[in-house]
Parts: sequence; structure tokens; C-alpha cells
Amino acid sequence: MKRHIYMDSHSTTPVDPRVLETMLPYFTEKFGNAASRNHAFGFEAEDAVETARKQIAQLIHADPKEIIFTSGATESDNLALKGVAEMYREKGDHIITTTTEHRAVIDSAKALEKRGHAVTYLSVDKDGLVNPDDVRNAITDKTILISIMLANNEIGTINPIAEIGKIAKEKGILFHCDATQGVGKIPVDVSALGVDLMSFSAHKIYGPKGIGALYLRRKAPRARVTPMLDGGGHERGFRSGTLPVPLIVGFGKACEICEHEMESEATRLSALRDRLHAGITKALDEVYLNGHPTRRLPHNLNISFAYVEGEAMLMGINDIALSSGSACTSATLEPSYVLRALGVGSDLAHSSIRFGLGRFNTEEEVDYVLGRVIETVNRLREMSPLYEMAKEGIDLKTVQWAAN
Ligand SMILES: *Cc1c(COP(=O)(O)O)cnc(C)c1O
Repeated sequence: MKRHIYMDSHSTTPVDPRVLETMLPYFTEKFGNAASRNHAFGFEAEDAVETARKQIAQLIHADPKEIIFTSGATESDNLALKGVAEMYREKGDHIITTTTEHRAVIDSAKALEKRGHAVTYLSVDKDGLVNPDDVRNAITDKTILISIMLANNEIGTINPIAEIGKIAKEKGILFHCDATQGVGKIPVDVSALGVDLMSFSAHKIYGPKGIGALYLRRKAPRARVTPMLDGGGHERGFRSGTLPVPLIVGFGKACEICEHEMESEATRLSALRDRLHAGITKALDEVYLNGHPTRRLPHNLNISFAYVEGEAMLMGINDIALSSGSACTSATLEPSYVLRALGVGSDLAHSSIRFGLGRFNTEEEVDYVLGRVIETVNRLREMSPLYEMAKEGIDLKTVQWAAN
């Protein structure tokens, strides 16, 4: 029987069976509309939503009233950037973000530039870290929002969010953080981080797809956004639309499980991740870690295997779900913009593989993946004239290539 191993948990995660079990009754007998305030079906649904709201708020140390349900982190990012831009238009038109944000933030910022806003995209260092001094220096009297991610979805680097939060507070500027990869994996406290708006999503933490949240600080300062949807005024008017009760119940349960198990899970997964990393560096030469060596998500490993195309690797190990920094997700041949932003050369960016370990990966699976990676890299390098030349001591930079 062919094995299929999932090791791509930055893309999505399976629903934890305990989460699914809590959701099921809300598809059938408990199907009420949480906005129906005139009968038991509605009350039951509303109660379930409020229980989930508490579980979610608890995981990030927020007040339940500060949680706005959305369809996911993409919507939360859009609502944060576009909603703040519109709400505070009189105050200013400048936004600060970084070059390594998720597309949902970068593309929202690009859309705002088309509408006349000014955006500063801060660069990061070779490990993917944003420098808080760069944030401070980019602030003008027109700045209305700083948006910087907690942990990067490709390289797992964890930004100095609390330091940036201090600067934002000192300058009286709202601070949004896309914490989708961090919530449920590392401790997150919105007040300790000094965050005023925060995006996260259920399906990255073993909850269902199609539900996420925007944390919106209620006081000191009170953050507000102009809603993107007009309608029934749900979610304190910030996001209209009938609440998807089963998904919200699942999101709540997923957060509750993370709260209890995050610490032991991080310990277990970082040990497995380190085992994989050590195994790879022991067996193969010319492998390079992308992202910060220590300030990184416990379950993330991103490695460039020189002289091997990431896409060829993925095809060679098609019984394991992994992700590459190559072009497959876009129509262009550009390698990962995140790796390029770290200064990783185009060749090494195309050679990168992201391993995203998860709750259901076992040590046996990690060892199997390790074996397959080593075998595949060796096989592909054997077919690579460039690798052979490099091994013979030829400096590839000095080679004169014929044009045709
Ligand atoms: C997955 C992800 C998103 C998008 O979340 P969805 O819920 O799938 O819309 C946004 N930001 C980051 C950092 C992510 O990892």
C-alpha cells in the first residue's frame, strides 16, 4: 500500500476529531440562527457562539467582545487594512507593512495604493526579521496603521511584535498583526504584544475551513474599522452575515484544545523538526536553512537543497505532501517572494522545501520523510551536471556559458 504523509501544515491542517465531534450537532438538531432572539433554537445557537467566542478570546487573552467572526484570515486582513484605511481617512493615508507578509496583507495594501494611500514596505534581515527601528523611522504624521505578521508562513520566523507594539502605542498608531501562523502554536497575548487588531483562522489550528476572526481592541485605544459588508449588522456592525454556527463551535473547540496542548505539542513537534533537520544535514552537503535558526515556529523547517529544483523534489516524493518555494502556486516563474526578500538567490529559492509538521505526524513518519528526502536529493543531484562540476571544484560563477 502506498503511504501518504501530510507535512504541509502551514497550508492547512486536518480537523481534529474532537473538534468535528463538537461541531456535528450544530449541522442537524441544533441548526438555529444565532440572531433569532425569539425562540429556543436561536438561543441555543447564540449560546454556542458565545461559548466559542470565550474559548477563542481566552487563547489570545482578549475580551470575548473583541472577537469579530470572519470567513478566515484573508477576510480579517482585508477588513483590518481596508477598514482602518477608510475609517481613519481624515487622520492620514499612510500604512507601514513589510515585504514578507502574506498575500492577503500585501494585496490589500496594493489595493489601497490604487485608491491613493501611501504604503511603506519594510525590508527584513537575512533571517526574515523586521527591525523595530525601521518601523519607528518609517512613521510619519500621516501614518494610520502598522501591519506586521507574527510568524511567517514560509520560513516560520517570529517577529519582535511586542517591541513594535510599544512603538505603535508610543506614537498613537494602530497596530495590526496577522497572527494566523502563530496563534495556537506559540503563546499569544494581545495586550503583552501591544496589538490593536489581529487576524487568525481556524483551519491552521485543526479547526474547520471558512471561519476566522479579527481581534479588535475595545479600549486604550478603541480600534474601529469601516465594515466591508452591509447587512444585518451582526458582529457589532463590523461584519454582517448569518453566523456559521457549526464552524464557530469548531473554531472554539480548536482553540480550547490548543490552549491545553500547545506547550506539549510545541515541545514534541520541535523535537521531531530538529530530528528531521539533523538527519538532513548529516546525510547531505550544501543544504541551507531558510529563516531564523532559533526564533522560529516549533513545527517549521524550510531548507534549500542546492542543485535540486524544489518542484522536481516534490514530484520525486509525491507520496508526501510538502511545499516548495518555487513557482507552482503562481502563473509566473518567480520563486518565493519571501525567500527573495531575505536575499536568498533565485537558484536557492527555487531549491527550497517547506516542511510543516503537525499534530498527527509521528516519529515514524518523520524518519520515512527523512529517508525519502535524502534518497531523492541524491538521485536528482546525480543527474545534475552543475552539482558534478561543483564537486569537481569548478567555480560555477567563472564558467562562460554559451548563449545557444
Ligand atoms: C493561511 C494564512 C492566511 C489566510 O488565511 P485563510 O483563513 O486561509 O484565509 C493569512 N495569513 C497567513 C499568515 C496565513 O498563514
